Amino acid sequence: MVDRKSNDCAPVLTDPAQMNKSGLGIHSSLCSPQGVVFSPGHFLTGPRKKTVAFDDVRTSSWLDAMKSSSPTHRKLVKDSGTELVSTDADVAYRNWMHKYPSALASFEQITNYAKGKRLALFLDYDGTLSPIVDNPECAFMSKPMRAVVRDAAKCFPTAIISGRSRDKVYEFVGLAELHYAGSHGMDIMGPVRPMSNDHPNCIRSTDKQGNEVNLFQPASEFLPMIDEVFRSLVEITKEIEGAKVENNKFCVSVHYRNVDEKLWTTIAESVHRILIGYPRLRLTHGRKVLEVRPVLDWNKGKAVEFLLESLGLSDCDEVLPIYVGDDRTDEDAFKVLRERNRGYGILVSSAPKESHALYSLRDPSEVMEFLKALVDWKKFSSL
Ligand SMILES: [Mg+2]
Repeated sequence: MVDRKSNDCAPVLTDPAQMNKSGLGIHSSLCSPQGVVFSPGHFLTGPRKKTVAFDDVRTSSWLDAMKSSSPTHRKLVKDSGTELVSTDADVAYRNWMHKYPSALASFEQITNYAKGKRLALFLDYDGTLSPIVDNPECAFMSKPMRAVVRDAAKCFPTAIISGRSRDKVYEFVGLAELHYAGSHGMDIMGPVRPMSNDHPNCIRSTDKQGNEVNLFQPASEFLPMIDEVFRSLVEITKEIEGAKVENNKFCVSVHYRNVDEKLWTTIAESVHRILIGYPRLRLTHGRKVLEVRPVLDWNKGKAVEFLLESLGLSDCDEVLPIYVGDDRTDEDAFKVLRERNRGYGILVSSAPKESHALYSLRDPSEVMEFLKALVDWKKFSSL
């Protein structure tokens, strides 16, 4: 029972002026500082090129992009029950934290600013609420984390924005109290509310509990293409040990976490070979994952804006959005909050990296601590 409000015109980028020079067709607004991957000339642009010559420059560029997207985090060396860490890494991390202070250490500053404002929480899933694990099917969140997220959702409007399919991330989180955006924000389920005409792909639907909801799927026309590419990617990577292809509905992830580093170039070449036939799809890098998604003027930053509007919080100066995420795709959301000077981006990272976020947290356990502190602060300030 789906009632279409309007036509299916997705905000697809078709104007060549909006395409970037790399030929990836990425709108400049979609380019996070580290977000997009390949330097100009390193990508074969369209289906007309029948012959693919993978030169050394291109190959090393892919490898560099894959390595830089997947930083080696601090290695803990256990020795007689004592955890020893590299001093250099510690120093580098401490220096980095001058630029991106801990959201826990800065908690008072954050809550001072939040006083009298309505706080809205946006949370990435993998690497933020759940640890990054070898098998992406097993990225479960802990029970204490689920309890804290549930408490947070009772205090503040809370949404999960993930690269996974919406159904998958709902399966992992399992909390009906939250709002969910899957496929990097290309599949959003939010409360029923009249939306502006800028969102022609917003339709009325029902959630798993039978409640009426707004469903926004700006990439709906890409579904058959994504499905086809998913099958081709499964086929082309089946001989690469450890490679795993995940269908995230409006995007596809090729995980290489369990692939020998010697084969990373092979996996990149395989994915590129498939994408040559799909100029309307593009590739971005995440943490040991290649992401194939539509060339579409949409990202997690726009998803945040859409959700704020859905929640009736977009026109309100007295709203403080907080976005917590660990990946490159989260940079689009950090950027929106920073540029509009309207909220806080918090990067989850145990290794120094450049970001549009304002604050940092080291890992999911610190995220849990931060959420718990927010809940306590809210309860205390309501007394
Ligand atoms: Mg993540």
